[in-house]
Amino acid sequence: MRTKSKILIVDDEAQLAKLFKFYLEKNTDYEIFTANSGKAAIEMVTQHKPDLVLLDIMMPDMNGLECLKRIKSIAPALPVTMVTALWEEETGQRALQAGAYDYITKPVDLNYLKMALQVKVFQ
Ligand SMILES: [Mg+2]
Repeated sequence: MRTKSKILIVDDEAQLAKLFKFYLEKNTDYEIFTANSGKAAIEMVTQHKPDLVLLDIMMPDMNGLECLKRIKSIAPALPVTMVTALWEEETGQRALQAGAYDYITKPVDLNYLKMALQVKVFQ
């Protein structure tokens, strides 16, 4: 039996992170972790070694771009999918240049999210 893929969901809106977690646990075989700040995300990357990170861009203290850079410095091969608001898609593109694997826009279509993660995790 192969081990479950681990996904780390990072969003300062705790309710949104919980919603993603609930949906993905119900509809996929992934093990889901959540973090509500960039600082917590970095600790969890080190501690749990996720297979993919879903990372919100708009967060207080440490924004998603800064967090992405730090994650890339400790786990260069770890794929990070950014979550951006529609009006900040330009930031999503900057994130790609900084090493993000992909970005999706809020409001997030949960079925699309599931597929976007599966494409990467099952590679
Ligand atoms: Mg946010």
